[in-house]
Amino acid sequence: WYPQPIAMPRTTLQLTTLVADLPGVQQQRARALADLGIAMIADLVKHAPHRYELHHGGCTIAEGEELLGEQDRLGDLISIDALVDTVRPIRGRPPRVEAVIEDDSGRLDLVWFNQQWVGRSLHPDMHVRIRGTLHRYKGRLQMTNPRFEELDEEDLLPAAEGLVAIYPASEHVSSTVIGRLVERVLDDALPQIEDHLDDAFRRERSMPALADAWATLHRPACETDATVARRRLIYDEFLLLQLGIKIKQHERQSTLVAPSLRWDDEIRDRITARVPFTLTGGQSAAIEQIAADLQQSVPMNRLLQGDVGSGKTVVAVHAMLTAIASGHQAALMAPTELLAEQHQATLAALLTDSKVRVALLTSSCTAKERADLLVRIEAGEVDLLIGTHALLTEDVSFASLAVAIIDEQHRFGVHQRHTLHTKAGDARTTPHVLIMTATPIPRSLALTHFGDLDISTIRGLPPGRQPVATRVVSPENAQGVYEQLAATVADGRQGYVVVPMIQDTDSDLKNVTSHAKALAAGPLAAARIGTLHGRMHATERAETMEAFRAGDIDVLVATTVIEVGVDVPNSTMMVIEHADRFGLAQLHQLRGRIGRGNHAGSCVLVADATTDEAGRRLDAIAKTSDGYEIADADMRIRGVGEIFGSGQSGWTAFRLANPLRDHKLLDMARRDAAAILEVDPDLSDPARALLRGRMRKEYGEHLGLGGVR
Ligand code: ADP
Ligand code: MG
Repeated sequence: WYPQPIAMPRTTLQLTTLVADLPGVQQQRARALADLGIAMIADLVKHAPHRYELHHGGCTIAEGEELLGEQDRLGDLISIDALVDTVRPIRGRPPRVEAVIEDDSGRLDLVWFNQQWVGRSLHPDMHVRIRGTLHRYKGRLQMTNPRFEELDEEDLLPAAEGLVAIYPASEHVSSTVIGRLVERVLDDALPQIEDHLDDAFRRERSMPALADAWATLHRPACETDATVARRRLIYDEFLLLQLGIKIKQHERQSTLVAPSLRWDDEIRDRITARVPFTLTGGQSAAIEQIAADLQQSVPMNRLLQGDVGSGKTVVAVHAMLTAIASGHQAALMAPTELLAEQHQATLAALLTDSKVRVALLTSSCTAKERADLLVRIEAGEVDLLIGTHALLTEDVSFASLAVAIIDEQHRFGVHQRHTLHTKAGDARTTPHVLIMTATPIPRSLALTHFGDLDISTIRGLPPGRQPVATRVVSPENAQGVYEQLAATVADGRQGYVVVPMIQDTDSDLKNVTSHAKALAAGPLAAARIGTLHGRMHATERAETMEAFRAGDIDVLVATTVIEVGVDVPNSTMMVIEHADRFGLAQLHQLRGRIGRGNHAGSCVLVADATTDEAGRRLDAIAKTSDGYEIADADMRIRGVGEIFGSGQSGWTAFRLANPLRDHKLLDMARRDAAAILEVDPDLSDPARALLRGRMRKEYGEHLGLGGVR
């Protein structure tokens, strides 16, 4: 919800009142709050607690002992106001501070481990409020590592009782301080919150009113109440986003057109004839789905997901050649220059003796080459342009761009797709867009992150693929691994050695230059070794890749530049040095470079698992080669936000919702959004003004809906 100007007596706190204007909030605190996204009262109310603690406030020591009863330990937090009797720092192991406090009802032992500063801030005769959990130690009542604050006369607020909200806080402003501020403004703020859902709508869904939901979230009587409140607020986040996504989709479809392309048996056969293998069922199905889209003048917006090596490129080739067959242009954008160069090589091979004019635009072009190329693109003298994702933001104008392929970019959000509109030739025309990714996206995330995309999935791998055996080897045993690599080379196969660094640095990590030398001087003396990394000049890089592809280099020592897309089927072995330093998705992608041909692959992760997380990652990757399982493990280990990025990359940062966990509410919100838009396609009904305003405020900018207030 968002504050609407309402006539209120001036003296009352407004939702738009700045927290900096609250009495007693100093500049420094206001800044600390601003860092947490809290500028005005409304933000304070929307600052949702992330958990609750159960407090027994204002106990005496005897009452605390009574609560503890016969148990050894009481999980609830107890606050006690008392007088410090003694404080004793004790050196020992671990160093600790012991204190005794007393009130009229009895005495209580306190002990802090490894917090010697406590000894300096507590002193006898000080009035303190301590908070912690009680237990018995050798028959005596004790609190370990309790929090404490000095009680001065003015500040004798009663200690919190019941469920106490714990807020996202920072080093500079604590949850307690935020809680007190919320407490101060909540009663004034709540009556000003208008609900954007009407009573009947809410009742059907057993949802509380908006103001009640916020009230309960901050001051729940029990966990169940908090859950009910949270459910309403999560639903709202989903509903507003789904409304926005669907309105945007409608807007695109009604204001933008894409060239409708010709697709029939003749075109299909002409393209397929150039492909040197038989398409898998999954590839054919994806091609047919895409072709059906391309024939429409409604712009295609499709995500093609398929595991590493599933053969997405050839599907993209079909889409691009369909555009060219109808006299338009196509563009293919890759995440790295290396991959762009490889796509260029693949396509050039595929299109030998055809009339299709292919060009590569990367930062390695000279200024003159670039200028010439831009002119040719704009004049329509280039049919198929290959480049990196930078093409999206650079000022490249096409004569008539009909199909844009974005390779290996699961983070490519609504936002960036937006920039393509300007490239198609005229303002109303936009290309058909196909995004390809090897990162499988769970349905719930697809609906929120890519809610306006259709999805095609290629399941399984082309036939004849050999499994890649993966094992973890500790650095001490790496010698045997290099011998295996030497044997692989002797068998006529090729391999990769991946290292984290390019050059000598102070670190003890292996780097391309010295590791290549060491291998050449030692275990791989008989092999032809090449090196590859991102800082090489493009010509040199292209030559190296060409030599590797041609089999003139046996072993490529490289950085992760080879992570995505590199495709040399004769490579069957990969050694990843310092594998514990790489992420799961990255390891899976790297490993995807081998086992592409008809020979079994072997991937060796050289690593000492230094942390638990690294250990879990290495286990996961060694156990399975299924991209879906790996993505799943990745999301559990790293969290969703890490993987899908945040902010401008398109991932919507929800306040409370988690699409994976709350997928049922998401489905409900989707259905409701569709039903609402069925009767009121652009939310122009005045009765929905509030709903529309809040949707635009929350997601308008993100979705490029324009006119955001
Ligand atoms: P990715 O989905 O990872 O982009 P690619 O498109 O690079 O995969 O394909 C991986 C390899 O599989 C390439 O060498 C490609 O030529 C080959 N390939 C793709 N489809 C088939 C198929 N149907 N049969 C045999 N090989 C195929
Ligand atoms: Mg690929």
